[in-house]
Amino acid sequence: MVFYSKNLEYVPENVSALLASLQMDGFIGEPFSTVFKQQTETQNGYLIGREFLKLITFLGCSPHIAVTPPEQLTDWGNFCYIEIQHFQAPKYFKGLNQPKCSCPVCKSRVTGALPELQQWLPGSQEVSCPKCQQTTLAENLNWRHGGGFGRFFIVVNSIYPNEAVATDKLMSLLNSVSGEDWDYFYFEQ
Ligand SMILES: [Zn+2]
Repeated sequence: MVFYSKNLEYVPENVSALLASLQMDGFIGEPFSTVFKQQTETQNGYLIGREFLKLITFLGCSPHIAVTPPEQLTDWGNFCYIEIQHFQAPKYFKGLNQPKCSCPVCKSRVTGALPELQQWLPGSQEVSCPKCQQTTLAENLNWRHGGGFGRFFIVVNSIYPNEAVATDKLMSLLNSVSGEDWDYFYFEQ
């Protein structure tokens, strides 16, 4: 699950101040760093905060998430932790393999008309709606939690598509700490 601002150019003026606010409100917990000797790999991130399970609503049965770093890297598929990713320029962050994006004019599904977005730049790629023929920039489609664009992403690992939803409380928390409107999407490998 990935949170991003609806403003393509948004990056916090002060990332540590933003993170400190989100830690104070209990969305994000303490930072951690785990070194895997066999893989000579280091994983960094933040544990989930004490209010996390009130800010995200899990659907269906109780969530099978680990909240502390597992010793084996192979067990990390259930480890729910938070990573911050920020970029010099806006980029497309792939979410679902088949995002159910729709035309903002007639609401028809336009997934089949999506261009290759790996080299996406703002204002560069238009999508033509197969139903109403309206052309819309890829970033202005209704992405319906299937992918996102921007420079600053809060990545919550190990929450799988449609397994959980963000509460209004979390969305207004993100708004109040940044002055921006936010949305989120699911991602899969
Ligand atoms: Zn349309």
